[in-house]
Amino acid sequence: MAGIEQDLFSHVETLFPLCRSITGEGLRRTLRYIGEHIPLECREVPTGTPVLDWEVPKEWVVRGARIRRMNGETVVDFVRNNLHLLQYSHPVDAIVTREELDRHLHSLPDRPGLVPYRTAYHADTWGFCLSHEARMALTDPAYRVEVDTELRDGSLSYGECWLPADAPDEPPKDAPGGAPGGAPGDVLVSIHCCHPSLANDNLSAIAVAIELARALARRSARRFGYRFLFIPGTIGAITWLARNRDVARQVRHGLVLSCLGDAGAPTYKQSRRGDAPIDRIVGHVLRARGLAGRVLPFVPYGYDERQYCSPGFNLPVGCLMRSPNGSFPEYHTSADNLAFVQPAALADSLALLGEIVELIETDATWRNTSPYGEPQLGRRRLYSRIGGQTDPGALPGGFDQLTLLWVLNLSDGQHSLLDIAERSGKPFEAVAAAARALRETGLLELAPPATLASGRTVG
Ligand code: ZN
Repeated sequence: MAGIEQDLFSHVETLFPLCRSITGEGLRRTLRYIGEHIPLECREVPTGTPVLDWEVPKEWVVRGARIRRMNGETVVDFVRNNLHLLQYSHPVDAIVTREELDRHLHSLPDRPGLVPYRTAYHADTWGFCLSHEARMALTDPAYRVEVDTELRDGSLSYGECWLPADAPDEPPKDAPGGAPGGAPGDVLVSIHCCHPSLANDNLSAIAVAIELARALARRSARRFGYRFLFIPGTIGAITWLARNRDVARQVRHGLVLSCLGDAGAPTYKQSRRGDAPIDRIVGHVLRARGLAGRVLPFVPYGYDERQYCSPGFNLPVGCLMRSPNGSFPEYHTSADNLAFVQPAALADSLALLGEIVELIETDATWRNTSPYGEPQLGRRRLYSRIGGQTDPGALPGGFDQLTLLWVLNLSDGQHSLLDIAERSGKPFEAVAAAARALRETGLLELAPPATLASGRTVG
């Protein structure tokens, strides 16, 4: 296993045993672990706090849960697998008939060996999840049920990692720079952290996000600020949005990350807008990998893109996955375990996010400073270097003559580098390298924001 694969997998492995939920100690311990690796501000929002149309729920405390036969033999135990307890079960200590117990059991008849993951955040009930095989074996007339839990006034926890952009008055040397007068905005990366012992959904995304944030923290220059949210699903995103309406307005690109560790190919679900820059950027990166078919349109279902893309916010936030939620038989079952997550897939997801970040950071709209006729490239030691070659192949830096000509022709203040890459069919990296070379000669300058085509540019 390569170093980065080892690092990613060890995050998944370490966090796997914890019993996370939308509130409580398992979630807090997960955030503390994340905070040992990246700068993380942990927030606590008290039970009962109104958040948008919702309210922060009571905190769920779990000490144990089991089903015992009347002779004392334990048949189902939370200690063996935390999926066994229906999340948010209220406490119970009772002897119940087989029929009464069965009304509180959840199993999967079509996958009889697997334990399902079920929640009842708002149902005020108790329940157990078990394999269908184990359920069929419960034939005694009565059982003793012990659920040692507590629903109490506490708080909802989430973590925020903020990596600011470089100060606008100190433009990064090799980056094209942002809009004059301020940083171009924020990139939001949102990861749900509320699932118990499930590896792909959601520990894979936590692991990849930790390493992505570490890489971004080390990056010599950041044109954008990056905000990582480690939050409980749905209620966490709603809580963050309720408390950060102004911050949300700064989001220029956003990604919800989930299911990034299975062997499936990467999948991108577009934002509600469908044509936001992030949709074009991730679409471009996946097409370059031959994965055009793995771009899916927005649907108001899935992960926290549901909240970020609600009509009042309508943020440019898509969702990056490998196999989409619900599309694999291991999803939300005990088979989504450590054996299901592939270290190489985790590393590939991280590499893919690296390409997406590179595009976010590099894309910009330039203007040809000599747009009347083709500028004389030979005098600037550009054309001669290419024109003399029989193969109009690469200059050092990796672009050919045609790429250079495309960049010069389309840099009219209306076309971004991504526009140029898409229209020319040239790789984005080659287009960006050509733009860098042209900028060094003074033939390109950043287009002032006023001339940018609306909605077509990064920043
Ligand atoms: Zn899930």
